[in-house]
Parts: sequence; structure tokens; C-alpha cells
Amino acid sequence: MSEPVRVRYAPSPTGLPHVGNIRTALFNWLFARHHGGRFIVRIEDTDVARKVEGAVGAILDSLRWLGLDWDEGPEVGGDYGPYFQSQRLERYRAVAQRLLDEGHAYLCYCSPERLEEMRAEQVRRKEPPGYDRRCRDLSPAEGIAGVVRFKTPQTGHTEFHDLIWGEVVFENSTLDDFVLLKSDGYPTYHLANIVDDHLMDISHVLRAEEWLSSTPRHILLYSAVGFEPPQFAHLPMILGDDRAKLSKRHGATAITDFRDDGYLPEALVNFLVLLGWSLDDKTEVLSSQELVRHFSLERVSKTAAVFNRQKLDWMNGLYLRNLQSHDLAGRAMPFLSSLLPPEAERSLDGDYVLQIAPLIQERARTLAEFAELAGFFFIDELVYDAGLLLGGGLSRETAAAALAAAREGLHALKAFDAASLEAVLRPLAAELGLKTGALFGLLRVAVTGRTAAPPLFQTMAVLGRDRCLGRIEAALERLGA
Ligand code: GLU
Repeated sequence: MSEPVRVRYAPSPTGLPHVGNIRTALFNWLFARHHGGRFIVRIEDTDVARKVEGAVGAILDSLRWLGLDWDEGPEVGGDYGPYFQSQRLERYRAVAQRLLDEGHAYLCYCSPERLEEMRAEQVRRKEPPGYDRRCRDLSPAEGIAGVVRFKTPQTGHTEFHDLIWGEVVFENSTLDDFVLLKSDGYPTYHLANIVDDHLMDISHVLRAEEWLSSTPRHILLYSAVGFEPPQFAHLPMILGDDRAKLSKRHGATAITDFRDDGYLPEALVNFLVLLGWSLDDKTEVLSSQELVRHFSLERVSKTAAVFNRQKLDWMNGLYLRNLQSHDLAGRAMPFLSSLLPPEAERSLDGDYVLQIAPLIQERARTLAEFAELAGFFFIDELVYDAGLLLGGGLSRETAAAALAAAREGLHALKAFDAASLEAVLRPLAAELGLKTGALFGLLRVAVTGRTAAPPLFQTMAVLGRDRCLGRIEAALERLGA
């Protein structure tokens, strides 16, 4: 690439960022990193009425969590903050004024009521919507506030080359005289967007397909102001598995919800990149470094991508299984502590969690699931139905006798490790005339409160002698023995 690559992620803080928004951020970030260029974050907050409290925080948290770091911006506390359009209003006003002075724009005094009537009339007459240009040829009125509208050419066409879609052509007659500056002095998206893309030297605009129809307006604006337009690449839509546009209904919640539900950022990055990009027909698992190395717009598809929650769970499970135990233990900590009652939280000792991690790792798809599956390691008094103890078809008496015998065996053990536990418990089954499955099933329920749990002897070794004995005692009480 000859010119330096400078791309931007330009979210409007009108809601919490979701899969679609952050996929755009990720593609921009990868494109910048691949080309050794710069990635800029610009908050497009000029629609005051639609601003949502907390949205900016959630956008920045999501980017940071996923490791999508940005390269410049106004300095805040020794770090770069994002750019905020609301802090750059003078720049947009100056360009609007220039367009007015040079006859590319005009002041429109139509009241909201008049525009409303006009729209209703257009609907009645089945005419395409759009401003009817009533104020286009008025001479500017002194002292009356108006909006600034762009004088869109009424004939001809506007074309541009999209790096994903190829040649795109729009008839100018389908575009109306859109607003550039509102009566509150704030720019519209179109004006602020082209002014900033120009001032920030943006080389490539990578954004969602829904913005494709705004691009001819931008091209016309660039030409009226005399700015060189950047290159454009519109990223394919994301659909739910029912092929409808992705929404909350498909489980496409805010990115921060994925974090809170125990997804790993590296798994989500890998999952998100496949929503529209692929390396080849088969490779699905790619690290961030590999993505940076291979990412290219040539491999971005035009076909809508489908968001598949099961695939995300599968991929997250895969990344989770590949974590080193200490890494997994560290990441699981906050999930364990939020799951446990305050008294159990005290027993959240790092070494203990580290021993538990490999036992649960194979079975959990998310950190939240990890915490849920590991919960029994931390609870002082297990809650389960006494009937579970007899699940293997044992009578109350046999079960009680088996637990009492196991208790003796555990007391006598020198080393309380998995091998020693097996060495004493396996022969015990034969001594008691029980199938090993029946005895081990009984002990599993007694020490974990569950019928399905990680390997029994390892679990018992990690729980430790005191906890195991206490739990066997409690099981005996449950059996009324
Ligand atoms: N503010 C727009 C958005 O919310 C930006 C679109 C663009 O990248 O030009 O997506």
C-alpha cells in the first residue's frame, strides 16, 4: 500500500456496542495492524437526542477488553482518549459556512410541522421520500435560524469504487437535499463524518454495509468541498441463524455481556473475524498474531455473515481448554467469587483454584460455566437430595455401611493423593461386595453433591481429607445413619 494506512472506528454512542459494531472496529484494527498503519477511535456524538448514558464507557471498555488499542487522540491522563466530535463543532461549522458561501448549500427555514406534512403528502402520493427543495432558491433571511442543506445535483449520477463491492453507481435524482448543519448548530452525520475523515487523513473507510447508501452523498460533499475522498470498503451484513438481521433476539447482546458471561476476548476476536472474513475454506482457529499477518480486504466476502451462538460457545470452549492452568485460574477468580456466598469467598485461595482448574477445564465452555461446575469445591455444606446417594440402586443400609467403611479408609491413608485414594477405594468395593461403579457413584455424590463431576480420586485429593471426611459425615447424616 503506497499511502500510509489510517483507519478509524467511528461509533455513535446511541447504545451499547454489539457484535456488529465491534466487528467493524476489529476489521479496522486488523487492517491498520496488518499494514503498519494507524487505528483511530472517533466518537460520533453529534446526535444529542439519541445519546445514551454509559455508551462511550461501554465502547471503550469493549475495545480495551478485546485488545483493540488505538494509536492517537487527545491526551487524557497520560494516555490517548478517543476523539469526540462534540468537541470539534467549529470545524464542521466552518465547512458548512464555506459550502453556503460557495453556493453548494443553502439555508432552509421549513418548520418541523411543514416537513411532517410534506412527508405525509409524499406517502399519500406514493412518492419517494425526501426534502422537496422549497427553500433552495430563497435568498437568505436575516436573523432567522435555519438548517443548512446541501444542494444535491438533481441530474446525473455519482459513482465510486468500493474495495469489496466494486463499482457502485447511484442516480443523483434518488438523493435529496440533505441537512448538513442542524438548527442547534450541530452537524449531521454526513457533514461531520467527511470533515473528520479529511482532517484526520483517513485513507480507508471500512464500515458496515448499511452505510453504503450514504456514500454517494459523501462523494458529492467531498467534491463540493474539494477534498480527496478516502477509499471505501463496506463490510457485509450480519444475520441471525434465521437469516433475519441480527438483533438481541439472537443472543447478540452487548459485547460487555460476553465478557460478563465468561467468554474469552481472544475467542471472541477469532469468532468475530469470521463474520465476513476467512483465510481459506477451512481454517477457523487463528490467533490475533495470525489474523494480523493474514488479514486482507480481498478475503472479505459480500455475502451476509451468519452469527451462530453455538459456534461461539464451541470456539470459546476450545480457547478455554488451551489456557495454561494458572491463566485459567486467574481468569476464573472473579467468576468464582461472584458465584459464591461471602463466607465461601474467603476460601478462594489461589493455590486451591489452581489445582481445581485442570479438573474443570475440559468440561467448561465459558468462565461462568467453569465457576458453576467448580462451585462444589468451595461450598461448606452441599445441598442435594439424599435420594441421589441411593442412585446406584443401593439400599440405605448398604450405602451407609459403604460410606462408613470409606471413612475408615480415608482416615488411615498416609498420603491423600489420587493414587493412594484409588489404591484404598478400589479394593474396598470388592470387600463390600459392591460394583466399583456403585461405590464410586455413592462417594461422588457424597463429596460433590452431584452425579456428574470431574474424576473422583483427583477431585477428592484436591478437596483434601478434612473436606472429604466432613462431607461423608454429612452424607451419613442424610441417610439417617
Ligand atoms: N457513526 C456511524 C456509526 O455509528 C459511523 C459510520 C461510518 O463509519 O461512517 O456507525
